[in-house]
Amino acid sequence: MTTYITTPIYYVNALPHLGHAYTTIITDTYCRFRRLCGDDVRFQTGTDEHGEKIARAAEAEGVSPREYVDRVSRAFKEAWPQLSVEPDHFIRTTNPEHIRTVQDILQKVYDQDDIYFSEYSGLYCQGCERFLTEKELVEGNCPDHLKPPEEITEQNYFFRMGRYQDWLIDHIKNNPEFITPKRYRNEVLSFLSEPLEDLCISRPTSRLTWGIPLPFDENFVTYVWFDALINYLTGIGYPDGPDFERYWSSSEHVIAKDILKPHAIFWPTMLKAMGVEPYKRLHVHGYWNVDETKMSKSIGNVVRPGELVEQYGVDTVRYFVLREMSFGLDASFSSEAIVARRNSDLANDLGNLFSRSLTMIGKYAGSVVPEPEKGLLNDVDRELIKAVEHMIKQYRQDMNGFLFHRALQEVWKVIGLLNRFIVTNEPWELAKNPAQEKRLMTVLYVLAEALRIVALVLRPVMPQAAAKMAAALGLDAEQDTLTLDTAGKWGGLKPGTRISQGPQLFPRLDKKNNKKQQQQPTPEKKEKKETVREKGLVGYDTFQELELRVAEIVAAEKIKKSDRLLKLTVRAPEERTIVAGIASFYEPDALIGRQVIIVANLKPAKLMGVTSHGMVLAAKEKDDDGNERLVLSTVSDRITPGSKVA
Ligand SMILES: [Zn+2]
Repeated sequence: MTTYITTPIYYVNALPHLGHAYTTIITDTYCRFRRLCGDDVRFQTGTDEHGEKIARAAEAEGVSPREYVDRVSRAFKEAWPQLSVEPDHFIRTTNPEHIRTVQDILQKVYDQDDIYFSEYSGLYCQGCERFLTEKELVEGNCPDHLKPPEEITEQNYFFRMGRYQDWLIDHIKNNPEFITPKRYRNEVLSFLSEPLEDLCISRPTSRLTWGIPLPFDENFVTYVWFDALINYLTGIGYPDGPDFERYWSSSEHVIAKDILKPHAIFWPTMLKAMGVEPYKRLHVHGYWNVDETKMSKSIGNVVRPGELVEQYGVDTVRYFVLREMSFGLDASFSSEAIVARRNSDLANDLGNLFSRSLTMIGKYAGSVVPEPEKGLLNDVDRELIKAVEHMIKQYRQDMNGFLFHRALQEVWKVIGLLNRFIVTNEPWELAKNPAQEKRLMTVLYVLAEALRIVALVLRPVMPQAAAKMAAALGLDAEQDTLTLDTAGKWGGLKPGTRISQGPQLFPRLDKKNNKKQQQQPTPEKKEKKETVREKGLVGYDTFQELELRVAEIVAAEKIKKSDRLLKLTVRAPEERTIVAGIASFYEPDALIGRQVIIVANLKPAKLMGVTSHGMVLAAKEKDDDGNERLVLSTVSDRITPGSKVA
């Protein structure tokens, strides 16, 4: 199968920001996913370089439009590799071949009487660079630019879009996947329930010269619709290039909702008039707000992709935007949100799982993928394998439907199961008993194989981290030719493969720049509650002053120079460090994933140089010889970390 996937071409009146980055990252992810499905894929992005705003911006800078567009276009081209985005083709609308094809198309459509000359007066928005209808205005203003449009009368060329309205309605109704998600399909159908006006496609050269001259009238230029939209064709060599033949029938466009109408209405009717079959699917996404407000230059909250990558790393940025936004709806970006995802999903859930697993294979199996014993697979193993197989099925469906956040939830379900799998099987206990050697090897194999598949499905999302995982699992050869069909089957990891520890995948990020974390110190309580002490009894109020909570241990390590102390990182639900005197009773590895009860409001105390924020509760006993034994408190079933104990 082939897939042709495009981003919009970005207008060069602004530098790349989070919105551009999101569209381009999802397009790249989808492209990599289709390749993983074995498709022959072509991925195109580029820049839209004509129009009044560009001409004005160039003038303001005292440079020629050409110089101006060259510079901004380059900024876009250079932004993508930083985000691990690898388009096959970068198109520019100032490219001479594009211009020639646009003129050929205009001539053809004009010759068949789908373009006519007429006078028009209307409400023109400079920001949108188009005429608005009365219906579109909100309290007399353009809804996007919050300014009243100008009344303009001029002679222009018009495309008879109305001719194709009925055809378009039928096409949308007969092809449920043509516009997705559904809400946008409904929006378009509702718009089409009113008569469609013809589309103004030209500007007089007296007003604008930075466009493509109409082949049939030198006093006019075209730009935007009959220029920009056509990039999807010229980029693959329309009308007679081999790539047009090869890819057009599988074309899919990705856009943000602000350009829904041009893509869902103008473009298909233009294609129809040109005698070209419509694109296959249009995928429409929502906006990113920053700290709950719309991103805008004037507010000064524009997020630049390069800065994000510098701060968080490319894989974290890609994972965050794909996981955080439900495709089609708006989502909110904040540094707190990205740090939280990084530390919980990536560092704790995935990163720790991966490094623990490899450490255990190193320690117990000599850094070689062990041979599993089929007969030793138990129900827990089989259920895990079933869950992995189910995840692949679900993942394939969700990725194909642009439900990236759901696909990732499925993958993280398996990651959660794997973390529990370690706790349930206690490899460190198996290792103490030579009779359990084969069972231990089977457990380690199941872990390594599941991680191989996790790395495989993460390739489209986090190409760099997935490659590191694969390399650590000894899989560096032939990675690019892998498909879900061949490599997505259980049992692909060859026993005997040498693994390596590899680098830490996702070091934890410091939250110190996190404004919300720096809360005001709470003032001392004014009234000290009376405590009633009566024969060793405490009042309910006294008990209530203790804050007991369930905490989940996410990391554990020995404290140097202490035989007794472990430094624990727990989630309760915020992360904190607690020092616990349990080193002689628990291996650090055995603690991860366990839920314990902590005293959350104990005054911080420094122990062997580490500040402990709270205390883990444990039970103590002494045997007849005076040896102390200690067991950790716990809850009888799994519960959300941070739940109160009362
Ligand atoms: Zn506007």
